[in-house]
Amino acid sequence: SSWWGGVQMGPPDPILGVTEAFKRDTNPKKMNLGVGAYRDDKGKPFVLSCVRKAEALIAAKQLDKEYLPIGGLGDFTKACAQLALGANNEVLSSGRNITVQTISGTGSLRIGANFLSRFHGGSRDVYLPKPSWGNHTPIFRDAGMQLKAYRYYDPSTCGFDFRGALEDISKIPEQSVILLHACAHNPTGVDPKQEQWKEISDIVKKRNLLVFFDMAYQGFASGDIDRDAWAVRYFIEQGHNILLSQSFAKNMGLYGERVGGFTVVCKDIEESKRVESQLKILIRPIYSNPPMNGARIATTILNTPELRLLWLEEVHGMANRIIKMREQLVAGLKKSGSSHNWQHVIDQIGMFCFTGLKPEQVERLTKEFSVYMTKDGRISMAGISSGNVGYLAEGIHAVTK
Ligand code: PMP
Repeated sequence: SSWWGGVQMGPPDPILGVTEAFKRDTNPKKMNLGVGAYRDDKGKPFVLSCVRKAEALIAAKQLDKEYLPIGGLGDFTKACAQLALGANNEVLSSGRNITVQTISGTGSLRIGANFLSRFHGGSRDVYLPKPSWGNHTPIFRDAGMQLKAYRYYDPSTCGFDFRGALEDISKIPEQSVILLHACAHNPTGVDPKQEQWKEISDIVKKRNLLVFFDMAYQGFASGDIDRDAWAVRYFIEQGHNILLSQSFAKNMGLYGERVGGFTVVCKDIEESKRVESQLKILIRPIYSNPPMNGARIATTILNTPELRLLWLEEVHGMANRIIKMREQLVAGLKKSGSSHNWQHVIDQIGMFCFTGLKPEQVERLTKEFSVYMTKDGRISMAGISSGNVGYLAEGIHAVTK
């Protein structure tokens, strides 16, 4: 007998499974559009120059490797909150936010989920957009919350189902938690417009819902960090005391460094002190304190004026390359002879595009063209380059004729 005889084989991760199949394929033209990591125009992983420069500055300082505080590097959490809320935000000057450093966006969401599970008296229910990032469900479920959904994506337009979303949100029981993607919605690439955000804010307030913003792509949607934070700042202005998760995986390309932040906007400074004390009690038995390297890199970039400028240019460059690929893909589809309307490929935003391809079409694209993606038809635009966009267009046309 064995200790683990009762452990059953679990299913593979839906996205990593795609990468494994891709690796086995010997077709030299193969493309992996499953994974959500930025690639340069040669298809190679991209380390930002501002990151290389920050690393050199840090190395030259010969800093020690003592533990960070439970809530992370103080300079980092300050800069992190400023980046999201805007340096002049009243919340920051009144000190009514608490921001802790987290293990990237995932760790931030999980700390948030655990905090809700322990302290949100109102309701266990967390409402996610339909569809949402695949990891949202297990993150909240494993923390003891219950998952519900509101309409978000309209397959008939490959766009935002504004009416459906408002209708569903207006029926959410009071004091429930609603999760909103701050920008560059994953997996659909569909964001509400500013006027639509305003109506969502009104309804959410009317229903007295607790807002949890997930901002994993600040700067990656439009190329402009302030524009991408618009919804978060607007909701705060409207009096929502939000929870906020931030990740520096995409916008600084710090994927494996695991740098992120979790913020609770409180009623006043006194409340934020109480919340801070409990966040520390929550974090201490999980990982004690966060890793320092990535936080030092991000802080150096945010707080060194030349590096910050360079970073803003590089974020802009990444976002622009993706926007260009969207245009080239649609041009390629037209050139291949496709008569479908592909405008949504251009209208969608951020790293991903929800193509509207059906599972059978995805399967053919993989089998006949060695193009790998998740079954829902989502492609990572960041995995396309000027060298292979034409090939992809031909493939998509062939399976959608
Ligand atoms: N939220 C969303 C919507 C995401 O797409 C991602 C990354 N795929 C994350 C959070 C968190 O990623 P990470 O833990 O790498 O920061």
